[in-house]
Amino acid sequence: MEIAVIILASLLIICCLIGGFIFVDLRRNLKSERVRFDNLTDSTFDYKMVWSEDLSHVEFNKKLSNLLISCGISPDKEYVKSVFCDSSLSYEGPISLCVNALRKSGTVSEYYSGEGMSGLIHWKSVSFTQKNGKLKIYSLGRDISGETVSRKVTEELREELLEEFEGIRRAEENALAGFFSFIVEGENIFVKTTPRICGLWGFENTDSVPLDSIYALMKPDNVLEVQRDVARFLSGVSDEIYSEAFIKIISGAYRSYTIQCRYNKGITDYRYLRTGLIFDNTSGRQSREDSFKDRQKEPITGLYDRTGFMLEGKIYLENSGEKKNSVVLVCLHVTRLRKISMLFGIEVSDVLSKLYAETLKRVVGDDAVIGKVGAEDYAVVFRTLDREEVEKLMKRVSIVVENHCDNKTLPAVLKEQSTFLAGACFYDGIDDIAVLYNKASVTLFNGSRDPGKICSFFDSEVEKKVSGRDIVENEIGEALKRGELELYYQPKISVGTGEIVGAEALMRWNHRTQGLIMPNEFIHIAEEMGIITKIDEWGLLQACKQNKIWQEKGYPPIVISVNMSQAQLYQTDVVATVKNALEESGISPQYIEVELTETMAMVDIDRTISILKSLKELGVSISMDDFGTGYSSLSSLKILPIDLLKIDRSLVYDIETNDTARHITKAICELGKAMDLTLLAEGVENNAQRDILEELGCDIIQGFLYSKPQPPAVVERNFLIPAFDRCKKAAELNKGANGNI
Ligand code: C2E
Ligand code: MG
Ligand code: MG
Repeated sequence: MEIAVIILASLLIICCLIGGFIFVDLRRNLKSERVRFDNLTDSTFDYKMVWSEDLSHVEFNKKLSNLLISCGISPDKEYVKSVFCDSSLSYEGPISLCVNALRKSGTVSEYYSGEGMSGLIHWKSVSFTQKNGKLKIYSLGRDISGETVSRKVTEELREELLEEFEGIRRAEENALAGFFSFIVEGENIFVKTTPRICGLWGFENTDSVPLDSIYALMKPDNVLEVQRDVARFLSGVSDEIYSEAFIKIISGAYRSYTIQCRYNKGITDYRYLRTGLIFDNTSGRQSREDSFKDRQKEPITGLYDRTGFMLEGKIYLENSGEKKNSVVLVCLHVTRLRKISMLFGIEVSDVLSKLYAETLKRVVGDDAVIGKVGAEDYAVVFRTLDREEVEKLMKRVSIVVENHCDNKTLPAVLKEQSTFLAGACFYDGIDDIAVLYNKASVTLFNGSRDPGKICSFFDSEVEKKVSGRDIVENEIGEALKRGELELYYQPKISVGTGEIVGAEALMRWNHRTQGLIMPNEFIHIAEEMGIITKIDEWGLLQACKQNKIWQEKGYPPIVISVNMSQAQLYQTDVVATVKNALEESGISPQYIEVELTETMAMVDIDRTISILKSLKELGVSISMDDFGTGYSSLSSLKILPIDLLKIDRSLVYDIETNDTARHITKAICELGKAMDLTLLAEGVENNAQRDILEELGCDIIQGFLYSKPQPPAVVERNFLIPAFDRCKKAAELNKGANGNI
C-alpha cells in the first residue's frame, strides 16, 4: 500500500511536470518534452504501453514484448484486457478499455515464464492533453518482484523526480519565464501573463493588464519599436512577434524581457488570442552587454573608445535621476600627442596616454565614465559641484602629469611639448549625451579660457560660434557669388631696413548678419565641402590684381603671398591657375609668392616637388608656412624647391621664456641659412621677440608688432604711402647730394 501511495505521488508529480512543460512552452517544446518524458519513463519504468491517439490500439515497449513472448503471451489487446479488466468491470470497445486502464492505475499483474521465472508488475496509467486537444495515455509498469528492491527503486525514482521538479521550478523562477498573451477587445489591447510577472511589474489585477500600462513602464527608447512590432503582429502583417524591451519593476530597476508570440491559427474559438512566452533575460543581456562593452575599449588605456563612451555616458546620464543637473561632460585634448609619438617614439606617447587615463580615473573617481575618444582626445562624464570644482580637478590632472615628466618617468621636455586643454558642458535639460558631447567638444577650441586656466565652459558665446558653423555651412557656397569675401593684407617687414617688403593676403568673409568671419571659421568647412579651390582661385587673382594696382600707383614694389589649400595643390591644375592669374592681372611673377604648409607638402612629396618646380619655372616664389608644427623632418626641406621658411607663431610665441622653442627656432634658422632660404618669423608681437629673432638670423618679421591683417586701403595708408614718401625723400636727398657734387 505504502509503495502504491509513493508511486501515485510520483506519478502525480510527473503529471504536474508534464502540465508544467506545456505551460512553459506551448508552441515549441511539446515535441522535446515528449522525448524528455519518454527518456524519463524509460529510465525509471521497466514496461510501457503507449496508447494511440484514437485509443484503438496499444504499443508495447521492447522489454514488455520480450517478457510476454518469453511467457508465451502474445503482446496484444488481450493482454491489456487481462491486466486492466476483471469481471467486475465491463469492457465495451477501445474507450472503455482505456478508461479501465486509467481507473485501474495501481494494479499489479503477475507473469510466469516457461523457465519457472515469475514476477509482479505494478501498473500506473497517466494521461495528458496535447496541444491539438487530443489525449495521450501511457500505462507504465514497474517490476516489483522483490519487495525490498522495488521499494528502493521507488524511493530513488521519487527522489529523482522531486529533484527534477525542483530544478524546473527553480529554473522557471529564475528565468521568470511564463506565458504571455494579447487579448484584443475592439480598440483595447490587454495582456495576460503569469501572476508572478504581473506582480513584479506592480499590477494587482493579474487577469488582464492594459498594454498601455506596460508601455508606461517601458524604457522610452524601446516603446516605439515594440509598439511597431505589436501593431504589425496584431494587424496580421506578421505572424510572429519577437521583441526585446526593458521594463521597470516595482523596485524601480529595469529588467530586460523578451516576448515571443505566435498567432494561434488552429484555434478557431480563440481567434483573438495571440499567445506565446515571455522571458526575463536580464542576466543574459548583461553578460552580452559586458562582452560588448569589452569590445568598446581602447586597447592602450583600457578606457572606453568613442562608441563605448557614448553608450555608457548615455546610461550614466539616464541613471543620474535628480542629480542630473550636476552632470558635466568634459572633453580633453592632449596637444601634440601624435607628434610626440613621432619625435620620441610610440612607447613614450603610449606611456603618456596611459598616464592621462590613470590620472583621470584617480582624480574623477569611480562614479564617472571615461573614454579615450580620439588619438589625442579624452572625454569624461561625472557629477560635480560647480565650475570651480571641474577646474580644480583638471588642474590636478595637469600637476600629476607634469610631475611625472619632472621625475623622469617621461622625458622632461614633454612638459613643454605637450599640455592639455579642456572644454566642459553641464547638463542643460537635453537628455542626449551626443548633444552634451558636441557642446563640450566645440567649447574645447571655441570657449574663452581665463588666463592660467585649463578648462573653458560652454556658454552663449560658444553657442553663437557653433550656430555660426551652421551659417557657414549653409552659406559659404554663396559667399563668393554675393561678393562677401575680401582679402586683408598683413605687412611683412625687413629686419635689415625696417621697410615693408611684402604682405600676406588673408581671407575674410563679410557676412550680412554675422559681421566679419575669420578664416579659421570657414576655410576648413570650405575644404570639407570641396569649394575651397574656387575660393583660393578667386583669392589668388584678387591678390595679383591688388599688387598690380599698387605698383601702378607707383609704390615701392612688394611681394604678395597667397595661401594655398591642399585641395588646390593636388586636385587642381594649380600651375595653370597661377599662370592665368599672372596673365589676367599683368603682374610680374617675381612679386607673387605661394604659401604651402609642410604637412600639406608631405602628403605626396613627389607630386609636390614636381608642382613646385613648375611654379618656380613660372617665376613665382614658394614659401613653407607654419614651419615647425608639422610632422616632417628638417631634412625633408632639402628636397623641396622652396625659397622661404615661415617660422610658426607657436615657436615665436614664448621664444623669450621657453628654451626649447628658442633651440628649435635656432636650429631651423641655421638650417635655413645653410640652405640659402629666406627666413621669416610669423606672429611677432613684441620687440623682445623681434630682437631674439634678429639675433637668430631672421630676415623678415610678420606680426601684430607691426600690423594686424588690414584691408588694402589701410595697408596703403599706413605702409605703402609712407614707404613711397620715404623713397621719394631719399631719392630727392640722393638727387640733392648728386646735384651738390
Ligand atoms: P597663416 O597663413 O599662418 O596666417 C597667419 C595667421 O596668423 C593669420 O590668421 C594672422 O592674422 C595671424 N597672425 C599674424 N600675426 C599674428 C600675431 O602677431 N599674433 C597673432 N595672435 N596672430 C597673428 P588668419 O588671418 O586668421 O588666418 C588663419 C589661417 O587661415 C592662415 O594661417 C591660413 O592658413 C588660412 N587662410 C587665410 N586666408 C586663406 C586663403 O585665402 N586661402 C587658404 N587656403 N587659407 C587661408
Ligand atoms: Mg600663411
Ligand atoms: Mg602661418
